[in-house]
Amino acid sequence: LEKVSKVYGAGNTEVRALWDVSLNIEQGEYCSIMGPSGSGKSTAMNVIGCLDRPTSGKYYLDGENVAYLEEASLAHIRNRKIGFVFQQFHLLPQLTALENVSLPMVYAGIAAAERQERAAEALKRVGLAERLHNRPNQLSGGQQQRVAIARAIVNRPLLILADEPTGALDSQTTQDVMRIFAELNTDGITVVMVTHEIEVARLTRRVVWFRDGQVIHDRLAPGDLGHMMATAE
Ligand code: ATP
Ligand code: MG
Repeated sequence: LEKVSKVYGAGNTEVRALWDVSLNIEQGEYCSIMGPSGSGKSTAMNVIGCLDRPTSGKYYLDGENVAYLEEASLAHIRNRKIGFVFQQFHLLPQLTALENVSLPMVYAGIAAAERQERAAEALKRVGLAERLHNRPNQLSGGQQQRVAIARAIVNRPLLILADEPTGALDSQTTQDVMRIFAELNTDGITVVMVTHEIEVARLTRRVVWFRDGQVIHDRLAPGDLGHMMATAE
């Protein structure tokens, strides 16, 4: 991100969700984003994920300034280069794990036989080889999140963006899910996650801290996270 701002509304109702943010995340990094509610974390993730365009500034993804591409081009990039993981999993309840994981490949135009094979492979990678044909309501929260991670990696993205991926999980399940992110990162995928949990941020390698739409700290983790929290509030 190069001097990226995102402004909502105008005049008295103007909100500077991001203000002049410059942030360089290299391929292969494992990074968490922290900061108070309303500080611009999700807005930044939406820009990084090509879900939203900035008001000004530049955003280079994989060498290309994608900030102001039209929606069809952004959708194409999202589908091929980025995997998304959300706090509430966002799985389709009527589909099995295998079918949920296959969906991004349907959008990418991959043939049915290959979809089946790759979806099973992705589910195996997150430890769910035995659960291919279960629907979400037959799976625990942690298992559902692992299905969501399999769905995020099935199109072999450069980058995984996760907005509070462990926010709905207990601490044991959080550890399991964080181990999967670490393994994916070891395999070369860039991982960027928003978290409110300091214990989760400690498991990543870099912590970027937002306040009032700006980056106020950018440190290697675990580093001095206590000091960072004390000065950021
Ligand atoms: P949280 O931790 O609560 O998820 P956040 O850091 O993700 O907060 P954002 O969702 O990025 O915060 O919001 C940043 C600011 O932008 C907030 O003041 C919010 O109200 C505002 N905002 C976000 N989206 C919109 C929108 N579509 N229209 C108007 N204002 C918005
Ligand atoms: Mg948010």
